Amino acid sequence: MVKWVYGFGDGRAEGSRAMGDLLGGKGSNLAEMASLGLPVPPGFTITTEVCAYYYAHEGAFPEGLKEAVGEALGHVGALTGRGFGDEERPLLVSVRSGAPASMPGMMDTVLNLGLNDVSVDALARRAGDARFAYDSYRRFIQMYSNVALGVGHYDFEDALESYKETKGLSLDTELDEADWRKIVAIFKEKVEACAGAPFPQDPREQLWGAIGAVFGSWNNPRAIAYRRIHQIPESWGTAVNVQAMVFGNMGTTSATGVAFTRNPSTGEKALFGEFLVNAQGEDVVAGLRTPQSVTEAERLASGSDRPSMETAMPEVFKTFVGVADMLERHYRDMQDVEFTVENGKLWMLQTRSGKRTTAAALRIAVELTQEGVIGREEAVLRIDPASLDQLLHPAINPNAPRPVVAIGLPASPGAATGEVVFTAEAAEQLRSIGRKSILVRVETSPDDIHGMHAAEGILTARGGMTSHAAVVARGMGKPCVCGAAALRIDYAEGLFSVGDETFRKGDVITIDGGAGQVIKGEVRMSRPELTGEFAILMKWADESRRMEVRANAETPQDARVARKFGAEGVGLCRTEHMFYDLQRINAMREMILAENVKGRRAALGKLLPMQREDFIELFGIMAGLPVTIRLLDPPLHEFLPQTTQEVAEVAKALGVPSEKIARRVAELREVNPMLGFRGVRLAVAYPEIARMQARAVFEAAVEVKNRAGMLVQPEIMIPLVIARPEFDAVRRLIDEAAAAVAAETGQSVPYTVGAMVETPRAALRAGEIAQSAEFLSFGTNDLTQTCLALSRDDAGSFLGRYVTAGLLPGDPFVTIDVEGVGELVALAAERGRAARADVKLGMCGEHGGDPQSIAFCETLKLDYVSCSPFRVPIARLAAAQAAIRAKARELNPVSTPVDR
Ligand code: ADP
Ligand code: MG
Ligand code: MG
Repeated sequence: MVKWVYGFGDGRAEGSRAMGDLLGGKGSNLAEMASLGLPVPPGFTITTEVCAYYYAHEGAFPEGLKEAVGEALGHVGALTGRGFGDEERPLLVSVRSGAPASMPGMMDTVLNLGLNDVSVDALARRAGDARFAYDSYRRFIQMYSNVALGVGHYDFEDALESYKETKGLSLDTELDEADWRKIVAIFKEKVEACAGAPFPQDPREQLWGAIGAVFGSWNNPRAIAYRRIHQIPESWGTAVNVQAMVFGNMGTTSATGVAFTRNPSTGEKALFGEFLVNAQGEDVVAGLRTPQSVTEAERLASGSDRPSMETAMPEVFKTFVGVADMLERHYRDMQDVEFTVENGKLWMLQTRSGKRTTAAALRIAVELTQEGVIGREEAVLRIDPASLDQLLHPAINPNAPRPVVAIGLPASPGAATGEVVFTAEAAEQLRSIGRKSILVRVETSPDDIHGMHAAEGILTARGGMTSHAAVVARGMGKPCVCGAAALRIDYAEGLFSVGDETFRKGDVITIDGGAGQVIKGEVRMSRPELTGEFAILMKWADESRRMEVRANAETPQDARVARKFGAEGVGLCRTEHMFYDLQRINAMREMILAENVKGRRAALGKLLPMQREDFIELFGIMAGLPVTIRLLDPPLHEFLPQTTQEVAEVAKALGVPSEKIARRVAELREVNPMLGFRGVRLAVAYPEIARMQARAVFEAAVEVKNRAGMLVQPEIMIPLVIARPEFDAVRRLIDEAAAAVAAETGQSVPYTVGAMVETPRAALRAGEIAQSAEFLSFGTNDLTQTCLALSRDDAGSFLGRYVTAGLLPGDPFVTIDVEGVGELVALAAERGRAARADVKLGMCGEHGGDPQSIAFCETLKLDYVSCSPFRVPIARLAAAQAAIRAKARELNPVSTPVDR
């Protein structure tokens, strides 16, 4: 029989941390903590397999589940000395969601379940506190009705507010037992009115209602949105955890809190947390009351005058520090924990690896290695390559003036500028028209998730470092300032004010999430220096990396950035980009529009010195590293004069009438230019272009050698090849140019000539092509277009549907289509190597900077990947991880887990 339910508690557990897929992150870690002997309220986990069953059977539960849950409840009752449904000693439970991947706050949780009109009084007697019991009961009614019966939160909030108003009260803490009793009655009426039935009194009905609702919450809109953003498969499902309640709202010796074992913003090794006395569950993260610091050091740093847990509850604090240390050592990573103190006793309710900024991730990985907790390779594997993007993004230039208008908490670092918006929808709308926004909210809720994703940065007036806004922003790598209490936000008017400044929707502000600053207008940004832990970790990555990482660069600026980021050469220099320059484009146009060889030669004569200078500069910057230069590639129409004025200018330069130029432009027009007169075909039809470019390369190489004594080894690449004879014809032009330059200068330059493989035919014929080509470089942008017959520029209108409907695993222009394009690459690599054992194989194009595609290149043992300069660090790290994993697979082919 299938086991649907796994129990935990009292120093034992049926599950463990290794069972995250089945028990969810929360459930498997509760089991692990229980096994470690930590104080965890007993409970049990209903598996994700039940969730799958539930969705496959229209909300029905599998056979045997009821019995298993009943038995597990009995066990929890025995451990706690209570009974579920017992009127004297009622067992109260929480019903908690928990998926294999962490989705903080996206799904539902119900607390205090099991309370009803009878057991509430039993709870009051046990606690000696009826106010507490009725407060718990109204929380339960509110949460359960919202989650299981679909009654809106605001219905209850409204009722509570108007009750307080009539009584002239403003804070919840001012309400006494009698007030909460009345509110419970009001809430129950509300439920009956909205749901059409009285609030369920039978604990078993409550329990199954809550379990169904938690499974149902896997498919609520915010969970779906979160999964989409974080690429969590729908098929995983959630587990449900049923756990005995402990109460943080039993008075001043009780509390609830959350903490990180290290600082999640900076990575500093210091306990970092917040708690609230006499509170329950979500009170800390909801941002309704401002929480207190856990440690005294944090309290001092924040300037708060409310006591820290360290001074308010010294004994509990000491125990807690011990538990936090133990968890970090056991999990070998920074942990994010949730805890509750009931009458001076600490209870652990959750632990997981904490979300952190990239800067913190680097520091933690490096320091854990230095502490001897993990090894270098593991440190390298701990960093998500894509997240490095966060560090490569701009920060406010330290010398720029910053008119700071408000200060909040530095919740997620990085700087962002954008137009003020107050709703998630407005942020999305602006992004859809290519404009940047800063989402400004009193506080954020999971319903804002899509807007946070669309905005450049997030600013809130309320909430601490662990508020929803802060946690989600850090996870997304978005700059965030939260708890900027001076902000007066008026949603209705669409404005916020601070002091005597007012900002309306559409006004531009900048936030600095590292400094917690809100700044008026736009501020000058600069790129940060990549030193410290970043440099250390990249060095470790390079120790493990097998593939070379090059950059796609043609301008001196790009080449410098590429070197700064550690590129080991240029994998793709697109020479046409050197001609788009205003001064050059007319010479280029003369060349294209010339009607004969003579005219073309004259124009090329003007281009040669310019092109030579470009290469001299590029070779100089790359200082002897390999540089792959691609011959002219784009359809010529991209250079043609468009407007009548441009036509007139070219006509004048060429000394021919405008009409003649216009006619030539019309002649060159193509129906399908991407499959037209471009790539190697240009060199076949106009050999003088290839000759000029090759000559410029060799003359530049000689020049650099003479000037700086630097040995350059140019690699000349022929684009869009489809056959060996075609490749040979153009190669001959290059070889002739090399020989001519050698004869003229008396210096020969070592060079190679290779083919860019970007048509299926070139991949299929790679064996022959490699007989004359010293290298093959996979141009996977075009190879994807030609393999899938899919134009990247036109795919926007339908490709999204393919991806959401699961017809394609993802956007093939972002991550290589392994099954199709990948197969061509594999085949070409194999055939190329069979023809020439040392043929050099690389991948250029967008995929060369995509971690998953890079991992694929490692499986084929390619020699290098090449990507845009800003992605070079990402590629270095991804290539290192791929090499480490490949090595692990070789050593242990069976048990290497699939990455998640
Ligand atoms: P989320 O996944 O949104 O964090 P949780 O299931 O962790 O939801 O529940 C949120 C909070 O509810 C917890 O952090 C804890 O404070 C409180 N809580 C959950 N279960 C219990 C329990 N058995 N006793 C006391 N508090 C609980
Ligand atoms: Mg939680
Ligand atoms: Mg191409």
